[in-house]
Amino acid sequence: MTDLKPEIACQRLIKKLREKGITDERVLEAIRKVPRHQFVDQALYGQAYDDNALPLGYGQTISQPYVVALMTQLLKLGHDDKILEIGTGSGFQTAILAQFSRRVYTIERNHDLGETARKRLRSMGYANVVFKVADGSQGWIQYAPFDRIIVTAGAPVTPKSLCDQLAIGGRMIIPSGSRDLQQLEIYDRTPEGFTKESAGGVVFVPLVGEHGWSANGEK
Ligand code: SAH
Repeated sequence: MTDLKPEIACQRLIKKLREKGITDERVLEAIRKVPRHQFVDQALYGQAYDDNALPLGYGQTISQPYVVALMTQLLKLGHDDKILEIGTGSGFQTAILAQFSRRVYTIERNHDLGETARKRLRSMGYANVVFKVADGSQGWIQYAPFDRIIVTAGAPVTPKSLCDQLAIGGRMIIPSGSRDLQQLEIYDRTPEGFTKESAGGVVFVPLVGEHGWSANGEK
């Protein structure tokens, strides 16, 4: 930590998140409880509570706190929800989700990131998270349907496999668009089908996989 203690830096971050429109007190409380500096390289401790994405290695990033808070708020989580998360990354968003819900199933494509996040969350005492290293664009059929699905990497189009694995009454949030800019899309599944809204532009690293981008940048 450079000049500020984590608790003080975190309070400042919470204030900023409120100013930017995060109103759900449960989300702010969850952000307060999860020490973000423990999810980044020690060299970045001083920036852990800035409202910015930070590098995780392997060309990946830990999402900006505002985007984590916004997506969590938009998910409208209930305590009994079963959640599928695609793109574990550092596990920071995973830890936030785990505060709210019955069980979080999280998939990461990169083996080292997935294993590091699993060990990190285990050592922090999270017992309601199930980890897998795989291509999450195919979902996790074994545990479907899910009440909530959150994708934290940008897809070229919303994978049908994920829509199929969303429970009726469920909600999915996914950034979808070009490699450089996506729309944050919200899908609600009703007995009649799906409704879709957009929550604005975002920038995520690409979702690479069978129903995402290819590793060389094509669809
Ligand atoms: N929520 C994470 C964000 C990580 S960045 C955090 O806050 O730390 C997005 C992550 O998605 C990267 O770690 C990347 O490796 C992963 N990813 C990309 N394509 C994927 C896929 N098809 N399945 C699972 N993970 C994927």
